[in-house]
Amino acid sequence: MIDLGVAELFRRRVAEWYSTHGAHSLPWRSTSNPWHILVAGVLLRNTRVEQVAKVYQRFLERFPDPRTLASASVDEIRGVIRSLGMQNRRATELKKLAEIIAERFRGSVPCNQKLLVELPGVGDYIASEVLLAGCGQPKPIVDRNVVRLLSRVFMGVDPPGPSARDVWRIAESLTPRRSEDARVFSYGVLDLARAVCRVRKPLCVRCPVNTVCSYYSRVRHIV
Ligand code: SF4
Repeated sequence: MIDLGVAELFRRRVAEWYSTHGAHSLPWRSTSNPWHILVAGVLLRNTRVEQVAKVYQRFLERFPDPRTLASASVDEIRGVIRSLGMQNRRATELKKLAEIIAERFRGSVPCNQKLLVELPGVGDYIASEVLLAGCGQPKPIVDRNVVRLLSRVFMGVDPPGPSARDVWRIAESLTPRRSEDARVFSYGVLDLARAVCRVRKPLCVRCPVNTVCSYYSRVRHIV
């Protein structure tokens, strides 16, 4: 159980940090269209952000909704995403994904965790981001970096100390109930974990949550 005062301070510090340091310029951060969020999540799997940013707009201009993508040929999809690599597998997967949404959900991305994770190529992380940013639901988004940050702050250890379930529970309990606040908070934790709470040599001295971080209070010699 996290102390309410600590949780509130953590939320506030993350939101303040995100307002000035967050990755606001990423094109999928400024949309609330579930299809756009889903496409970004699928394209970003095993691929660098900069590579996807170059392809993302072009992809959505050509395939603005699941039905358009479902009716395109694999060849055409492959041509649009070629620079990302693994284009054969990705193009086939994307087409399959779009066909299922077009046929089973009448062309609309389902705002439901269980239905989302049944889609090909969609796991908990992508599903949560779609629900958070595309469906207005207050969901945490938890990747490997966020697991590390939350494990350090609230348990004072590095992964694989706490179980994934424990970390998800912490993330859920911290996520604000208002969807706009949840979006700022979840993206803030994601960016903070990647940029500041690094695997080696985390930047604790300049970290906005260092006053509530159990790991930092234990290992203050880290710079
Ligand atoms: S104080 Fe250090 S260990 Fe704790 S969250 Fe910040 S960067 Fe990570």
